[in-house]
Amino acid sequence: MPVKPAENSSDDNLNNDKPLDFVRQIIADDVANGVSDGRVHTRFPPEPNGYLHIGHAKSICLNFGIASEYEQGKCNLRFDDTNPTKEDSHYVDAITADINWLGFVPEGDVKFASNYFEQMYQWATELITKGKAYVCQLNGEDTRMYRGSLTEKGKDSPYRNRSVDENLDLFKKMKSGAFENGTHTLRAKIDMGHDNMNMRDPVMYRLLNEAHYRTGDTWHIYPMYDWAHVLEDAIEGITHSICTLEFEDHRPLYDWYIDNIDGLHHPRQYEFARLNLAHTVLSKRKLLLLVEENKVKGWDDPRMPTISGMRRRGYSPESIRDFCKTIGVTKYNSKSDFKLLELCIRKDLNAYSPRVMGVIDPLKLVITNYPEDQEELFETAINPGDDTAGVRQLPFSKTLWIQRDDFMEDAPKKFFRLSVGREVRLRCAYFVTCTDVVKDDNGNIIEVHCTYDPATKGGDAPDGRKVKGTMHWVSAKHAVSATVNMYDHLFLAENPEAVDEGVDFVDTINPDSVKVLKECYIEAGISVQKPGYRCQFERLGYFCIDTESTADHLIMNHTISLREAKGKK
Ligand code: ATP
Ligand code: MG
Repeated sequence: MPVKPAENSSDDNLNNDKPLDFVRQIIADDVANGVSDGRVHTRFPPEPNGYLHIGHAKSICLNFGIASEYEQGKCNLRFDDTNPTKEDSHYVDAITADINWLGFVPEGDVKFASNYFEQMYQWATELITKGKAYVCQLNGEDTRMYRGSLTEKGKDSPYRNRSVDENLDLFKKMKSGAFENGTHTLRAKIDMGHDNMNMRDPVMYRLLNEAHYRTGDTWHIYPMYDWAHVLEDAIEGITHSICTLEFEDHRPLYDWYIDNIDGLHHPRQYEFARLNLAHTVLSKRKLLLLVEENKVKGWDDPRMPTISGMRRRGYSPESIRDFCKTIGVTKYNSKSDFKLLELCIRKDLNAYSPRVMGVIDPLKLVITNYPEDQEELFETAINPGDDTAGVRQLPFSKTLWIQRDDFMEDAPKKFFRLSVGREVRLRCAYFVTCTDVVKDDNGNIIEVHCTYDPATKGGDAPDGRKVKGTMHWVSAKHAVSATVNMYDHLFLAENPEAVDEGVDFVDTINPDSVKVLKECYIEAGISVQKPGYRCQFERLGYFCIDTESTADHLIMNHTISLREAKGKK
């Protein structure tokens, strides 16, 4: 079921004073000049051979974003499923769900390149008939050799001047599975001396005697990207075919194919810089390898830069869209800072996250003068920045959990939290003064003892005395115990895709990219929340309930710290 776009999604890129990015400027000009009858129809064309990642989100926000900015704008979701070897319908479902989650609704039905195979075949036949395509029997290595290089022109294939009839016959045989893989290709007859290597008789079809996840055993030939993509765009009436910079040199071929087939609508290709992100790999092949070699727990591992991983980690669709808007769209390759992504999620979560008390490194605090069986309920805001969010109730009792680092034995003067002899505020409860500690045989502190001042109920002293420290806490008998996963960058290298020669990107995986904290205590109210719930643990950061969390065993993921860590590498 497609999800309706979030209320503000269509405005994400409007209503600000920034000039239009270059793609949007081109489109605005085209609309003004009546190009393609003034229509705006884009597409997002993933290959179903992996999950979407944050780089894809950039393309999604651009293509769907542009469509949403025009009253009649449309954006297709089209699976570019022209390679049977690695594609699977499982990926189709995951990709579709991710796009919906990001807040975008594709135009009409989801499209598949494989639905156009027959039409593509007909048009290939048309090119053969016009003398503009031929069946070549050079093997892979010879094809490469004949192609020449950037400095050297190519050589004509010995099969280049076959008759139309012979070509038609051979092509039909290729289609019907008469030949072994690698023995024949169909090539466009353009110019082996062309300065642009993509124009040196590019391969249009190769033999692949392999079943396709949608078309089964129907086909023994499969179209190459350049040939297929432009036809898919033309069939769907796409006006602006937006792709990444690597395809800039392919544009003449894109145009050549369209221009040499009769009566086709002519979409225009435009290229923008792909997203690169520090400490991350954004190649589907590499992400697949991490999954297959169990370097991560799956495509949706919260350390993965996939949309599903980021969702599981606690990122919101709004924050991802905001990031894509912030980085903008340019023609120059660059690497985006991870901190920018973190800034976007922090900004978003800060605005609406409910506050929750959570202790993730627990130390027991016993209030020795608090009656054994007494319990109280304190009330505080769910979100102090948002009056409409309401209040929550915090049960309080004699034994509490506090963060271990909120206590220090030999505390310096400037340590404003708990130490023997010092008084602090337990937020919205009482002032407590530490009297002594209990240690185990190894000298580790296992319990701190305090007394409380009943006159400070609610967290303020009637006599006006002040304390410098305010700490959060949870009541031991009411708290929900939980496992909390703390995350760091998956890769130590800032640029894991370009590490030193001989070093594999897998070797730069951060051994501390996840820390599993098994003894955590969360305020009682969390028990009614479901997987996907995002909140702020007061003083600690933003967290989200994991998809594998159950009523019996709460699991939470650390999304992001409250502030950017200072001096942290
Ligand atoms: P592959 O190498 O498998 O083709 P891909 O990342 O290009 O990987 P596609 O499924 O072809 O995967 O991508 C779908 C669309 O997403 C393409 O139009 C591509 O231009 C765009 N895209 C992919 N990676 C990025 C990126 N890092 N930044 C921006 N756009 C991207
Ligand atoms: Mg691709």
